[in-house]
This record gives sequence, C-alpha cells and structure tokens, in this order.
Amino acid sequence: MSLRCVFFDRDGVVNRAPDPERYVTGWDKFHLLPAFVESLRIARQHGFVAVVVTNQQGVGKGEYSLETVETMHRNLKTVLAEQGLELLDVFCCPHLAADHCACRKPKPGMFLLAAEKHDIDLSASWMVGDQEHDITAGRAAGCRCIRVGGGKTAAEHHLASMNELPALLDKIL
Ligand SMILES: [Mg+2]
Repeated sequence: MSLRCVFFDRDGVVNRAPDPERYVTGWDKFHLLPAFVESLRIARQHGFVAVVVTNQQGVGKGEYSLETVETMHRNLKTVLAEQGLELLDVFCCPHLAADHCACRKPKPGMFLLAAEKHDIDLSASWMVGDQEHDITAGRAAGCRCIRVGGGKTAAEHHLASMNELPALLDKIL
C-alpha cells in the first residue's frame, strides 16, 4: 500500500528562517523549531511518513556547497532519530531560478521524485510551507496544503505560526 506523507518545507518550517536574501550556510546556523519536532511526532503517530523538500539556491550561487547542505540534512535526521523520530528523506533543489529546472518550487519535481522513490500517494498527502511557492508546488503535485504565516494563500489551511501546526495536524491527519 502506498505511503501517506507530510511534506515539509525547510527554512521557516523545520528550522528558523534566515533573514530575507540570506541562507542557512552551516549546521551552526540551523536552529530547529520545537513546533516542527512536535508536528513530526504527530504525523508519525497518525501513520504518515515525513519528507523535507527545500529550495537551496544558495548552492547555485556558490554561497555554500552541496556537501555542506547534505551534511546539514544528515545531522538533522540524526538529531530527530535521537528523539525517536524518523525523517524519511530530504529532497534539495540546488539550482538557480534561472536554471529552469524541474525541481525548484513552485514546480512539483521534488514531490514527484519522492513519490516515485518511496511509493507515496500524493493525493493522500499534505504539504506545509511558509511561502506561497511551497503551496503552488504542493498543489501542482496533487497534495493538500497548509500555509504557515504570510498573506493570501491557495492552501486549504492557513496558520498564523508554526506553533499552531501540531494541533491542526492532530485534527486533520
Ligand atoms: Mg520556507
């Protein structure tokens, strides 16, 4: 049977968002949000797997290396595993917007790759993001969406902050 998944954007959802036009350039600047950890716990309790889908254009700009990002994501999985929480996978788009790749959100490429790799039922899955391009990508992939913060959205649910996410997931999953 196909897996049901909660997809999470990274910066601003999993970890504290960097300042606009800045990047999380290393693990020492990666500040995990407690509300994400709690949300992951609830998703797992409801039988959902969890996957992170993140645009990291800073790699394409040469601000930090793909290896640095991969180390960060390994560390993230380890820290969560130490709390008994499995993060199934992390998909990262390192391209520039100008590269016109298929993976950079608002395109759904990372979701489609994840679905193929892990046999995920996208129509039974959710996307959580703090920017509208996350929601556009999630919808294009056939997921239902939750927008955290910000303005007008096409998402099914709109929360003021990550602190509200655990209770919402507990209700809807
Ligand atoms: Mg974000």
